[in-house]
Amino acid sequence: LRRNAGEKEFHQAVHEVLESLGRVIAKHPDYANDALIERICEPERQIIFRVPWVDDKGQVQINRGFRVQFNSALGPYKGGIRFHPSVNVGIIKFLGFEQIFKNALTGMPIGGGKGGSDFDPKGRSDGEIMRFCQSFMTELYRHLGEYTDVPAGDIGVGGREIGYMFGQYKRLTNRYEAGVLTGKGLVYGGSRARTEATGFGTVFFVQRMLETRGQSFEGKRVTVSGSGNVAIYAMEKALSFGARVVACSDSSGHVVDENGIDLDLVKEIKEVRRQRISEYARIKGTGVHYIEKGSIWDVPCDVALPCATQNELTGKDAAALIGNGVIAVGEGANMPSTPDAVRAFQKAGVLFAPGKAANAGGVATSALEMQQNASRDSWTFEQTEARLAEIMERIHDRCARTAEEYGAPNDYVLGANIAGFVRVAEAMRAMGVI
Ligand code: NDP
Repeated sequence: LRRNAGEKEFHQAVHEVLESLGRVIAKHPDYANDALIERICEPERQIIFRVPWVDDKGQVQINRGFRVQFNSALGPYKGGIRFHPSVNVGIIKFLGFEQIFKNALTGMPIGGGKGGSDFDPKGRSDGEIMRFCQSFMTELYRHLGEYTDVPAGDIGVGGREIGYMFGQYKRLTNRYEAGVLTGKGLVYGGSRARTEATGFGTVFFVQRMLETRGQSFEGKRVTVSGSGNVAIYAMEKALSFGARVVACSDSSGHVVDENGIDLDLVKEIKEVRRQRISEYARIKGTGVHYIEKGSIWDVPCDVALPCATQNELTGKDAAALIGNGVIAVGEGANMPSTPDAVRAFQKAGVLFAPGKAANAGGVATSALEMQQNASRDSWTFEQTEARLAEIMERIHDRCARTAEEYGAPNDYVLGANIAGFVRVAEAMRAMGVI
């Protein structure tokens, strides 16, 4: 705690994993040897750097850049880049720590890392975004490589930003190293279904979880927080499974549309015009409510999919959802539910899918992008989506089986933490004290 003073999100993430490990150590005391757990909690490398850039008024701006290369026991560091004013070292470390276990759960050869900057892309012109991305990569490129560290997108970083970063990497290194970044555009080495993968994957996971109770998305009322990359494609897949999505949000407020959210309009507003979700209510007019600042979790639903950001769903929100009869919660975002919210869901018997399992479809499809790049191949959308669906089923079953094996049936939090940990721990033990 002293070594990581003030990093509260990092403490929260570590605490949750360590809480699950008691049962593993009881069964396999060897895992406590050689300070293995302490080593897993300490990043292999942390890079913090200055990002100077010039805005449209000719003013010099300074931001701070981060890359935490947390664990490479299973493969090159892999994890997204986040651009948001709230970014600090504690946030990046929590995300990097979660990423280790998430990536292990996919069963693919990828280690854990995360990066980002406190740069706020909101309201910035395309030229400003490009200059910022170029400056960010001008420092970061020396730490990356297809066998070293392979970033992707996250909050505030989508296809446009990855394109600018890839262009700058290529220019600085004079190498067309397609496998150095994932989430690339389709014309220059991206994978089909990567844009959709995290949201789709979350819904595949929840569908499988619902099936354990003889249920499905068909006819269910669903609320989805956020209206970014993960939220949009979670809504799309839930709709295709016959659900009615009634609410979504952004950081300013949420919209409730009892006729069912018009996803084409959300995409137009968010992906094309880059406007606020309040525009949705303005365009639709009567019958649609826009609630500024209120909690989206007060809207009654059967399935809740938090897809915005960490700690966005509190104990109070969980109580409201439970009171309104929610049956399943699937985390598309990373750590969106606070610890008391998670406890409340589990106590009430609500099916609860933690982010490190439920949103692993994004990074899994990034690993498929790396495979396609390595073999200079490109798969069809159907082929890639089928692989994603199969991976999510496997992750679900691995979590469920592990929870059962460790005496906590239906506890997906415990199942995910233990299954992820054991794979990383085995690799680290085999490699000696590193
Ligand atoms: P986007 O930037 O595309 O969208 C984020 C959405 O969440 C926006 O609607 C945004 O609203 C909202 N949001 C962000 N911060 C806050 C906040 N502090 N309070 C309320 N709402 C907020 O990001 P992604 O969709 O890519 O990421 C969403 C979550 O999913 C994150 O937790 C991310 O780590 C996680 N994730 C993403 C993956 C991916 O492949 N992209 C993979 C696995 C996990 P606004 O526009 O107003 O800021």
